[in-house]
Amino acid sequence: MKVFKFGGASVNSADAVRNMVGIVQAHLESDPLVVVVSAMGKTTNLLEKLVPGQMSTTGEERSVLREQLETYHLDIAKNLIANDNSLVDKVQDLLCRLDETIASLQRSPEHYNYNYDQVVSFGELISTTIIAHYLNHLGINTQWIDARQVIVTDDHYREGRVDWEATCAESNLFMEMAEGHQVALTQGFIGATSSMHTTTLGREGSDYSAAILAYCLGAESVTIWKDVPGFLNADPKYFSDTVKISCIPYNEAIELAYYGASVIHPKTVKPLQNMGIPLYIRSFLAPASEGSVIGNYHTISPETPLYIFRNNQMLLSIFPRDYSFIAEDNLQAIFGLLNELGIRVNLMQNSALSFSICIDNNPQLVGRLIEGLKSMFLVRYNENLQLITIRYYNQEVIDSIVAGRPVLLEQRSRSTEQIVVPCR
Ligand code: ASP
Ligand code: MG
Repeated sequence: MKVFKFGGASVNSADAVRNMVGIVQAHLESDPLVVVVSAMGKTTNLLEKLVPGQMSTTGEERSVLREQLETYHLDIAKNLIANDNSLVDKVQDLLCRLDETIASLQRSPEHYNYNYDQVVSFGELISTTIIAHYLNHLGINTQWIDARQVIVTDDHYREGRVDWEATCAESNLFMEMAEGHQVALTQGFIGATSSMHTTTLGREGSDYSAAILAYCLGAESVTIWKDVPGFLNADPKYFSDTVKISCIPYNEAIELAYYGASVIHPKTVKPLQNMGIPLYIRSFLAPASEGSVIGNYHTISPETPLYIFRNNQMLLSIFPRDYSFIAEDNLQAIFGLLNELGIRVNLMQNSALSFSICIDNNPQLVGRLIEGLKSMFLVRYNENLQLITIRYYNQEVIDSIVAGRPVLLEQRSRSTEQIVVPCR
């Protein structure tokens, strides 16, 4: 059994859905093909603005967005299957349920994360409803499966943590439902608590959903269909001459995702590694080309430097108020605060007199962090920075990336160079 995952960009229009369905059709086998799909296009971003308690959206904006959501999905549905009211009715039913859900939720801030999951999950419910209906319309025998019946998480809303035992047990149900069908189509990104409250797995979590299902179903492989030709050595947004990496060891992929490579969701690789399931990354724009594979390898091939850029970074330098040494109790206080605010440190360095951390410049959190730190320490900071990680570096490569910019922080291990420089 194989698992395919299609993200929002691969199903963002009726033509995109036709292309995606063509890929599915070309890979049908005797076993059902498990297909995991995200919300269409930028639907998740739109739904985020409709979450009750989302203060920045005005009432007027809400009605415009709600209208956009409806028009966008109905246009795709009607374009895929002309003169078929049953699909339009299904989509409209879901939109009614969305309205009812929004109306029923409590608006106070402590309910925000819960509300978020109840609302945002409709993106995946609508996309999979349309695509399953279309597949069946084409004569491809498809079972729509509600991922919330299978993927069991705790009640950590917006970042549900998977209950592996319960999920693997529910996977039997998934198999039963899939049995006798050519395609078992389900939603990425969403799950539910054991008491059936909808949860989500964190933004871009559909890759992770595919990995969870593959693990629990004992799949032979996972393929993520993307708008890039495979795993590239740098983000093509920043680099014109990227190199495609054909084979990547599991651990390398985990490291790269940790440093911020955005090609796959960071939690995706570990469950696959545990079961030795290969993860293919292929292009939905060029489905005949080979792509990349993450699996049991010792080194990347071809061997070439890999670059990961994190923009909008901030460097904080923290000094004891009496200009004494930075000691363990100081570090404990700093990390306590970071942990409390849920801020991840992307790079850190200490000297005798100061401790420096490089973090994402998230305006809401950073203000609170600085305020908290200032009650104990002297704090200096720089904004508009870029953290560049280079795996398998050499001096020439570093020089060309730095391009004469001042290096504010640098850390080097045998395989990895990390530098913080002002954004270009
Ligand atoms: N639709 C969700 C998001 O946009 C999940 C995903 O696309 O992976 O974050
Ligand atoms: Mg996506």
